[in-house]
This record gives sequence, C-alpha cells and structure tokens, in this order.
Amino acid sequence: MAASSEAIENIVVIGSGPAGTTAAIYAARANLAPLLITGYQDGGIAGGQLMTTTHVENFPGFPDGILGPDLMDRCRAQAERWGTRVIEADVEALDLSRRPFSITVEGRTIRTQALILATGASANRLHCPGEDTYWSRGISACAICDGATPQFRDAELAVVGGGDSACEEAVYLTKYGSHVHLIVRRGELRASRAMADRVLANPNITVHWNRQVGHFSGGEWLEALHLLDGGGEPAEVLPVRGLFYAIGHTPNTRLVQGQLQLDAAGYVVTRPGGPETSVEGVLAAGDVADDQWRQAITAAASGCQAALAAERWLSHHDLAVTVAREPVDPIAADLPQPTSTATEASFDPAALWQGGSYALRRLYHESDRPLLVVYTSPSCGPCHVFKPQLKRVLQELQGAAQGVEIDLEADPDIATQAGVTGTPTVQLFLRKELRQQWRGVQQRSVVREAIDGLLAGVA
Ligand code: NDP
Repeated sequence: MAASSEAIENIVVIGSGPAGTTAAIYAARANLAPLLITGYQDGGIAGGQLMTTTHVENFPGFPDGILGPDLMDRCRAQAERWGTRVIEADVEALDLSRRPFSITVEGRTIRTQALILATGASANRLHCPGEDTYWSRGISACAICDGATPQFRDAELAVVGGGDSACEEAVYLTKYGSHVHLIVRRGELRASRAMADRVLANPNITVHWNRQVGHFSGGEWLEALHLLDGGGEPAEVLPVRGLFYAIGHTPNTRLVQGQLQLDAAGYVVTRPGGPETSVEGVLAAGDVADDQWRQAITAAASGCQAALAAERWLSHHDLAVTVAREPVDPIAADLPQPTSTATEASFDPAALWQGGSYALRRLYHESDRPLLVVYTSPSCGPCHVFKPQLKRVLQELQGAAQGVEIDLEADPDIATQAGVTGTPTVQLFLRKELRQQWRGVQQRSVVREAIDGLLAGVA
C-alpha cells in the first residue's frame, strides 16, 4: 500500500497530537494513505501536550478517564491500523512556494500535494532555577489536566499568570487545593472582567500583585515557591506543593514563517470556522491555529475538518491517488504492550529487551555486552516516545547490546539506589561500569553512537 519514496504523497500530516492523528485517521479511511511525520523533540514531544499529562477525564468515550500518553498511543494505533505510514522525526524544512510541496525530513525530501499542519503549541515556561528539577513533580503547565493529582489534594497551590487561563485555573484548583495563590507580575489582571471578578471574590484565592517567581525548592517533590517583588528583591516564600504556569502558549510555526499567513502572536490564520490557510492545499488543525479552546477534543475535531477539506481539495483538482484496501477490514490495532517482568523462570540471557529487577541483576553481573538500563513509569509520556527508539537501536545492533526496563513505581528501591529521580532516565553500562547517563528523550543517534563507541572499544 505504501507509496514509494519518490512518489508524490496525497497528504502529509505534520504533528502527532490529537489533531494530527485524527487527520491521519480520516485521510487513511478515505484510502489516501497519508504520511504522518510525528515530530520528535522540536516543539515539545511526539504525541503533543497530552504526552505530559496524567489523567484525561474529559475526552468523550473514556468514562473512567485515560492517561494522556495512552490516549495518544491509541489515536496513533488507530491511524496506523487504517494505513497511515509514520516517520518519527522532526521536519527540518518545508517549501510551500512550489507544488507539489516539499518537506525535508531525516535528510531526504518528500513531496506532497496536500499538507496538514498540526504542530501544536508549546506552553510557555519561565525557566527559573529549580524548574527542571520539579517539572512534573509539582510544576505543571496545565491545571485542568493535572489539578486532581493526589499530591495536590488539600495542599497549597499556586498559578502564575494574569490572563483568562490563569484565572480559570485558579478557580478550578480551589476544588482540590486547600488554598490557591495567584502570582501576577503587574498590578492588574489581563483577564476579562467577569473572570477577574470570580477570582477576586473567591476567599480561597489570594492574589499576589507585582510578584515574579524567583526559584523553587523542596525535596523529591516541590515544597516552596520563592517570590520576588517588583524590584527583583526576595519577597514571600509560599509553601506550595503545586505550581501551574498559565503564561500563554507559543505556537509551533517556525517551519511556516514567511510562507503562511500568521497572526501577531504567530498562530496560523485559517478561514473562520474552517482549516484552510493562506495557501491552497495547506490545512491547519489543532493548537497551531487555535489560541482559544486548546482542548484535545477541539484539536481532534479540527483534525477531522482538515482531513475532509484536504480530501475535497485533492478530488476537486483531480490530484488524489487512492489505494485499494486489501483486506477491506484491517487487522486489529497494534497497541504498545507493557514490558513483561522477567522471573527466574522466564529470564532470557539473550533477550534484546526485558523488564524488572531480576533481569537487571542477572544482566548487570553476567552480560559482557553494553547494557541499557531504562527507567520508566506508566504515566510517563516521554517514555512512550523514547522506548521504541531505544528498541530500534537494539534491533539494529542485532544483539550486540541489550536493554532492561525498570518501572520506577514497581521497583522504587532500585531507582533510589541508582540515583534516578525522574523518567525516562537511561543508563548505559559495560561490564558493571556506568559509562553514560541520559535524562529525558534523546535522539536515537546519540544512544547508537555511545553504544557503537563501547563496541569499538570492546572489539
Ligand atoms: P494571555 O496571553 O491572555 O495571558 C498570559 C498571562 O501571563 C498574562 O497575564 C501575562 O502577563 C502573563 N505572563 C506572560 N509571561 C509572563 C512571565 N514571564 N511571568 C509572569 N507572567 C507572565 O494567555 P491566556 O492563556 O490566559 O489566554 C489566551 C487566550 O485564550 C486569550 O484570548 C483568553 O481570553 C482566552 N481564554 C479564554 C477563556 C475563557 O473565556 N473561558 C479561558 C482561557 C483563555 P501580562 O498581563 O503582564 O502580560
């Protein structure tokens, strides 16, 4: 079914959040064999903002909620099940000045008749000292997503920002926290009057005017927010367990700057109520063109619109090359399976990838090959992105190196002994010696080169 690399694609979708995957599902079911370029590190992570969310309780169809990364795994599997081809990489360049459009990715050029831009927006951060340490351990960019986290229950919480989002989130968080502090950098709120009034009238919210965040402190989890006054001098220290940024978003439109009409804030301008951009055949969906609603469900809906509009545009210009689907009903979706924990009975000394402390102990002591020890947790979205890349490296190496996965929740003691405080963390050992450690998602090539280096030394 896949078009050859020289062929002109019908539709390329850039972005793999709810908008991009929904667009791919619709285009695939229209037999247009779309190509989905997920993005990898540019503008957040593949899968979009839901990958760094815990429970999604407001996406219809999941009455008991679903973890954000699991929802995105399902959307992607659904797109693939219907014939979407996937490239897991960042787009390097786009040329919309000539048709077919061209896209540079992984060093090669792909040409496409229609393009759906679903690159999303990244929540702004402050980058204060301590932020990296407490990110996802008290600090979040989305109160609506993460507010109900158990650690925030009956704790003091804070929101930074003075716009409608900050006000809405502060009010929302009063449902969970014992008290909410709103940190506003000026002497007034930017939010609409109605929203501001709700905040100012709420006895469970204290507004701290003319305050900026200085730094964060705590232990394993955030414990305190150190504020600065208008002159940049140390002011209050608030004993908060949760801190939520609501300081705006930046749309991921770097690739289309100078090529598509953007608004003053950098969002793609689309036809009101539709996905059409200033260039025919280029559709935009999700947060890259939406500074208002920014919900998974609204992004998915606009992805659907974009796919339908692309299909119409292709058929109007007689450009679509549809594929025949054999069999008519595709096989069941291929969802990522959890890694099984090796026991004494199931441990395989030659397995490329297995899980648990037993396998770690055995491989650590007995293997003379490079060993990747991968610390993950079930709700860690970046782990969902990074693990398949690590497995690919090990497959490419055909057994010259091995991997073992440790679930931080199942084996917290091992993680503590190894000095691991976050996921994903990857440690590379050779003969019991730690040779390299990575925190967070890396390019596959970085890990491959490190292992190649060890193997060259071994040879
Ligand atoms: P906004 O851009 O409106 O507000 C961002 C806020 O963050 C501003 O108060 C800004 O301060 C503050 N800020 C920015 N950078 C910093 C910084 N470095 N340090 C401290 N504070 C900072 O973004 P929103 O997400 O609130 O809203 C986006 C759009 O969505 C708006 O049009 C809004 O009306 C809409 N919206 C509507 C809602 C509703 O109607 N229910 C709910 C949520 C959003 P300053 O004011 O000083 O610039």
